[in-house]
Amino acid sequence: MRRVLIVGGGSAGWMTAAYLNGALNDRGNAPTVKISLIESPDIPRISVGEATVPSIQHVLSVAGLDETEFMKAADATFKQSIRYQNWLHNDQSFYHHPFSRYRIQPIDRTGRAWLNSDRSVPFMETVSAQPVICDMARAPKMLGRWDMGAPLAYAYHMNAQKFADYLRDFSTARGVSHYLENVTDVEMRENGLIKSVRTDRGNVHEADIFVDCTGFRARLIGETLGVGYEDYSRWLMCDQAVVGRIPYDQFYPGLIRPYTTATALSSGWAWDIPMQDQRSVGYVHSSHFISAEEAEREWRAYEGPHAKDIETRLIKFHVGQRQKAWQGNCLAIGLAGGFIEPLESTGLYLSDLGAVMLAEHFPYTDDMLEAMAFRVNRVISNRYFEILDFINMHYCLSRRTDTAFWQEVQKPERITDRLKAKFEYWKLKPPSASDFQDQSFPGGAGQIDRVVPGCDPRSPVDTAGLWNHESYEAIMYGMHFCGEPLAPPSTDAPKTRVMPAIIERLRAAQVKLPPHDMWLQRALGAPSFTSAGYEPPGWASGRARPY
Ligand code: FAD
Repeated sequence: MRRVLIVGGGSAGWMTAAYLNGALNDRGNAPTVKISLIESPDIPRISVGEATVPSIQHVLSVAGLDETEFMKAADATFKQSIRYQNWLHNDQSFYHHPFSRYRIQPIDRTGRAWLNSDRSVPFMETVSAQPVICDMARAPKMLGRWDMGAPLAYAYHMNAQKFADYLRDFSTARGVSHYLENVTDVEMRENGLIKSVRTDRGNVHEADIFVDCTGFRARLIGETLGVGYEDYSRWLMCDQAVVGRIPYDQFYPGLIRPYTTATALSSGWAWDIPMQDQRSVGYVHSSHFISAEEAEREWRAYEGPHAKDIETRLIKFHVGQRQKAWQGNCLAIGLAGGFIEPLESTGLYLSDLGAVMLAEHFPYTDDMLEAMAFRVNRVISNRYFEILDFINMHYCLSRRTDTAFWQEVQKPERITDRLKAKFEYWKLKPPSASDFQDQSFPGGAGQIDRVVPGCDPRSPVDTAGLWNHESYEAIMYGMHFCGEPLAPPSTDAPKTRVMPAIIERLRAAQVKLPPHDMWLQRALGAPSFTSAGYEPPGWASGRARPY
């Protein structure tokens, strides 16, 4: 039986173990591979990574996790959108990037219609009910049987530490072997493949496939195999975060938002991620523009006077990707393979992509290794570039000039060439699905130079694997942009039209969708808290809607 050894027991390691055990072993019922995981008892997990994207549901379902049990175990709440505040101007304005929107058939003219209208309603609110459902703080599920038509897409916010513990208990109960030991040495075979790892307990663990989930340490792929790291900091300038938690037993704001808030600050942005018993608030910033001490002060000022005694920690990170995620018989998953900052919650997504790719391209014999690695490296690397472009866009479309950071991130040299080419093209026509079938955009090279010795020389392509034209529309129109900043609407432009189906859905939502905190309490038995009567930043539940 083929042996897989996962080194590292953070979210990446345990997601990989649970997924492989589901996909290849029928959750322990019909084992075809032997899965083991070694986790250091001394090196803590990074324990951030609380916001997810909907693809996590695929992982949960293949692994065999029950949603209710998972949500209880990981203190999870629903996430239906990211609300961006103060990104265009520093003026309290905001827009949503929700997970659901209407897909109009047979031709979607909504983008063009909005651009030609008086834009009195934000674009996403013309095609999705979810921004307003979010601002009403409603759950995406009813307490009884769902009878509101198409379901609302959602992901989760959760306690990353508890999530990894839950996956550990679930996986070990279904046949995954677990060792609490430190890997100290790695022994190679003559053909350049890894043979075994040795631990501080004197044990030697042999395997056929090694998965490096050791986080930023990259103990196997980096330290042992010497696979280099491509640095993306010229496009994404943030490199550290001040992180703290605001417990509800002292500071419950009276509701639980069913979305992530991302608020632009002086030298980066702050996430606000609500869980069942606390909020996680992190200020992602660039050390080139603000010191850690100043960033901590800004974090406290942003959160409010109640934050003065909250403990914070500083997490440094390095944006980029491993030149090859898969080398020989070792695949890096999670932070060992790379990290594009947390703005769109892609950390856990990239771990789940790694696990899915390994299961689908599982090398049952050594002579499959090279072909599987070639394919998987291409797909994973493309996805990194897709994420890079998409996150890069949030920064470069800002028109803030109030700090040196915001002035810098808008400079042409801070924008990837491929994103520039997309923008050139979208001056001519709004984004549409087929834009992602052919990557040669006229008017720009459209490519990213990636000449890495020994690596696949083909230019990366954007397959819209994570974000398609609809997501681009959400951000671009939210930032009043379509290839170039939008000119003000003409004075005789027709009123912006909201689809009648959305107005109907919002009426139904008001009656049928319970407040998010009520759903959590009734469906999961989540604790209830007394409102501390304070308002966290940007809490105002929304703007007046003219429809
Ligand atoms: P870690 O959690 O660091 O785990 C590494 C594991 O390797 C540990 O178990 C450690 O003990 C073990 N280990 C290390 N060395 C050895 C050794 N020699 N022997 C044995 N074991 C060893 N992702 C999201 O999806 N959403 C978010 O909102 C989000 N926010 C983030 C914010 C920040 C500031 C950062 C830095 C990341 C964020 N991420 C987010 C990414 C997310 O945290 C990670 O993708 C995820 O936690 C996976 O981490 P990991 O398991 O790769 O690494």
